[in-house]
Amino acid sequence: MEQDFKDKVVIVTGGTRGIGAGLSKAFLERGAIVYATYAGNDEKAQSFKSEMGSMGERLELRKFDVSNREMVEAFWSALTEEREQVHVLVNNAGIREDNILASLDETSWDRVMDINLKGTYLMSQGAVLHMMRKRYGRIINMSSVGGRLGLPGQANYSASKAGQMAMAKSLSKEVGKRGITVNCVMPGFIETELIADLPEEQVKEYKTQVPLKRFGQTEEVAHAVLFLASDKAAYITGTSLEISGGL
Ligand code: NAP
Repeated sequence: MEQDFKDKVVIVTGGTRGIGAGLSKAFLERGAIVYATYAGNDEKAQSFKSEMGSMGERLELRKFDVSNREMVEAFWSALTEEREQVHVLVNNAGIREDNILASLDETSWDRVMDINLKGTYLMSQGAVLHMMRKRYGRIINMSSVGGRLGLPGQANYSASKAGQMAMAKSLSKEVGKRGITVNCVMPGFIETELIADLPEEQVKEYKTQVPLKRFGQTEEVAHAVLFLASDKAAYITGTSLEISGGL
């Protein structure tokens, strides 16, 4: 296994299950020290750590809500004490609360925007303050093809995901001169708990719409993120990479 992230400090929000767990594992396998954050599911977080076996010694778990400024600031100030440098931030934590817009209540709008978009802003703010000092950093937002296509019933989710892409473009222009790149990946349908509630008929229908005729795996997202986080992607910033089977 390549050790291209040996001793690099990598933060993966929502890094204890689903796509985030796939990312945390991929970085651990390549020698990184991974801070996997999560919101509340202690059981999943602990079982993920034990699954990682001896690599788990380089896995730090941190529980907080990415949409809460005080908690995010407490995370960053503790990290400053623990680590001299942070190399990679993946803004992966996210939720969906679908409904057609005519029935979409304000709470669902706010919750999705707060976690997906405001969480990305708060975490990125902490990261750039850290990364600017060392004139190096990689920030990757886990957006979605929904941010480009806009699936029905996902006005809040799609808006938050399009927002992450716009934010990445702006931020990339602010911090490029400091050696920090900011990009997005846009997965299509990836088999995780986030989409486990889709009715069987809808899953069948969506699979016929995917040119590659299947849903993706978390590892397939991880490969793209590893690339954007690597030194090989030094000249790529402000852009988005789709991992959607061709949607
Ligand atoms: P998931 O399996 O539902 O996992 C979500 C993760 O985010 C969990 O670790 C969860 O923590 C954490 N989280 C949720 N709310 C949080 C909050 N307020 N603060 C901190 N952490 C929070 O989701 P997934 O499918 O892996 O999705 C990960 C990302 O990929 C999301 O941004 C999603 O929009 C994006 N995405 C997914 C798909 C897909 O098909 N799966 C497609 C496109 C984009 P707990 O475990 O504590 O709840």
